[in-house]
Amino acid sequence: MSFLEYAPAPESTAVLNLKNSYGLFIGGEFVDGSGTPFNTISPATEKHIAEIASASDEDVDRAVAAARRAYDKTWSKMSGRDRGKYLFRIARLVQERARELAVAESLDNGKPIKESRDVDVPLVASWFFYYAGWADKLDHAGLGANPRALGVAGQIIPWNFPLLMLAWKIAPALAAGNTVVLKPAETTPLTALIFAEILQQADLPAGVVNIVTGAGATGSTLVRHPGVDKVAFTGSTGVGRDIARAVAGTSKKLTLELGGKAANIVFDDAPIDQAVEGIVNGIFFNQGHVCCAGSRLLVQESIHDEVVDRLKTRLSTLRLGDPLDKNTDIGAINSAAQLARIRELSDIGEAEGAERWTADCAIPEQGFWFAPTIFTGVEASHRIARDEVFGPVLSVLTFRTPAEAIAKANNTPYGLSAGIWSDKGSRILAVADRLRAGVIWANTFNRFDPSSPFGGYKESGFGREGGRQGLTAYLKGAAA
Ligand code: NAD
Repeated sequence: MSFLEYAPAPESTAVLNLKNSYGLFIGGEFVDGSGTPFNTISPATEKHIAEIASASDEDVDRAVAAARRAYDKTWSKMSGRDRGKYLFRIARLVQERARELAVAESLDNGKPIKESRDVDVPLVASWFFYYAGWADKLDHAGLGANPRALGVAGQIIPWNFPLLMLAWKIAPALAAGNTVVLKPAETTPLTALIFAEILQQADLPAGVVNIVTGAGATGSTLVRHPGVDKVAFTGSTGVGRDIARAVAGTSKKLTLELGGKAANIVFDDAPIDQAVEGIVNGIFFNQGHVCCAGSRLLVQESIHDEVVDRLKTRLSTLRLGDPLDKNTDIGAINSAAQLARIRELSDIGEAEGAERWTADCAIPEQGFWFAPTIFTGVEASHRIARDEVFGPVLSVLTFRTPAEAIAKANNTPYGLSAGIWSDKGSRILAVADRLRAGVIWANTFNRFDPSSPFGGYKESGFGREGGRQGLTAYLKGAAA
């Protein structure tokens, strides 16, 4: 028995008021879908949560038509001030129902309750508050002489931050005066459907936001629909490419937030204890299901052994298990398919010659789990140094000089984020200047704020979400 044993502290699910089955949210109401319904399950227990409607091509058509009607008849005629009032109302309702949303998110996604409670849901509220404030100021934000909405936005989101990605998409779109058809990921539709109830509670005019659940085919129909003026996608680079091809040659405006393989660079003058916490937060937060995760640790050769030793000690204290337990640090992997991918890439890492270390923690019998894992002796050519694992797996590489660190950090087809750990501000600025990544954190990692633009270069996509810049993606002729 270790000297720090924790008694179970599960968050109660009594706060949830779930239905057995959920329809599509079209025109302000829940309606039946005409596709084959599917189940959403808890990845921690594999237990059924609810049956979810699947949107067919006709259903997507209905949703786009509802969004168009709402745009023409209500939303485009409303003042920015009034749109802002709705966004403020939504933000306050998210706060009021925060506990319920956090529990539902952890149940459906598998992420620890302390993350959904303290990170995801508060950020969701802050995103709506932030963009509520912009709704009546579009004419004064340097966004052009007469910024105007695009019309209907088709938005597709992944499963790693279901409600937060919804907020990143819906809040700026509505603030800029667009109406929305949003498709959540098939493994995590629950909080989007509870959010639809919040929209009803907020009296948001019918059709301003429509939510169509379903798999990739539903998303594919949505992005190709001729009634959609703007496509916003967050997900894998492969699907992003397909969408870019589908939208090319049309008048649709497109933003893509795709994958990443971020370098987290630790110099020998870094505050090591802080850096270790930052490395852990960078790759083990949300089970590593984070597009901007610091999955490639670049550590200066002289401190390599010390950093790796301390990391292993720290990882040995992380608690893996029930996502609803308030003491849990590492929750469940979101799906069997994602677990298979993490296993496959980790096996390849070992076969390619990297040394694998896995934290010694008990793995529950049911559900999808992967213990925190570190690979040392990784070379730039290894798949685990190049491919996005999207799981709790860290690849450790070394460097000797700042120039080598920069060259290795940039040696990736991605360019979403990076981290720099050093005591010297001048070094941080000099290195940051030469990193080809959209977001660079200094002496911290995985920090998000609605006022700060986020987005990638190269195969990590294009366009920015967050901040004043995030509005430009939803306005005619506006440039950041
Ligand atoms: P995915 O691309 O498979 O799925 C994302 C969404 O797209 C889902 O809703 C899915 O149903 C839908 N989809 C699938 N095929 C489609 C198609 N042909 N046309 C339209 N929609 C389709 O990705 P995923 O596995 O759900 O998410 C993981 C990926 O997302 C990772 O690569 C990660 O890096 C990336 N991601 C990026 C960001 C970012 O901001 N850059 C944020 C989160 C996740």
